[in-house]
Amino acid sequence: YVAKQVSFGPRVPNTDAHEACANWLAAELARHGAEVTVQEGRARAFDGTILHMKNIIGSYHPESRDRIMLYAHWDTRPFADKDSTRQREPIDGANDGASGVGVLLEIARQLHAVPADVGVDIMFFDAEDYGRPQWIESTDGSFQDWCLGSQFWAQNPHVPRYRARFGILLDMVGAQDAVFHQEGTSLRYAPHVVRKVWKRAADLGFGNRFDAEATPPTIDDNYFVPEMAGIPSANIVDYRIRVRPMGYGPFHHTHADNLSIIDKETLAQVGITVLSVVRQP
Ligand code: ZN
Repeated sequence: YVAKQVSFGPRVPNTDAHEACANWLAAELARHGAEVTVQEGRARAFDGTILHMKNIIGSYHPESRDRIMLYAHWDTRPFADKDSTRQREPIDGANDGASGVGVLLEIARQLHAVPADVGVDIMFFDAEDYGRPQWIESTDGSFQDWCLGSQFWAQNPHVPRYRARFGILLDMVGAQDAVFHQEGTSLRYAPHVVRKVWKRAADLGFGNRFDAEATPPTIDDNYFVPEMAGIPSANIVDYRIRVRPMGYGPFHHTHADNLSIIDKETLAQVGITVLSVVRQP
């Protein structure tokens, strides 16, 4: 699933690759038995570009009032602004984007084969990674130009008065050397969800990968979903605190974020953990 997404080319909003991948994602969710909603919206990017966004949602047991929301962003960053070369070209986004979506597509396949007791919504948010590049200084310290798809959904949920027990975000979950610390924004909005997920990972034998030490608060879709839609969410994200400077892995927003850094074992550990939480929340 990760390789297939990368094969479309960078999934940058307003491009043919983006459009083709959107159609494929919606068809995959439908093939795995989900009720599919494609939510189209527009947002203004940091540079004034109007982005044509698609949030792609696959629902299981849509009638159930007891729901869990699993989400990832599917768009690709249009710049490699943390690289030393080709900074103005888009990245492959094998990890930043495709990995979380890939794991959730496999979870969709599993939920089709063996349904969960709770309702599950798998949401692929668009335009998470179109924030202003590092060569443009932010005048106001604003981070509102990130996560445009999840902000749009939080203000216009695909189902009126949408509620879920909790959410889990997957972002950059595929690197061979990934470490998942307890993320600071998740701990602020959803400490009980974080504890649940990290405990389950440890019980499954993945305690080395899921490290209980906390990161500083970060900005990702799991900031906007609780803040604007009131759904407490945990972020499983590769943010490393035992290196200096601390931050996302060295692939982040560079051309090194390609298929060569993706490891099936990492993807499996994340998927098995999340699916276990869904089956026994
Ligand atoms: Zn990113």
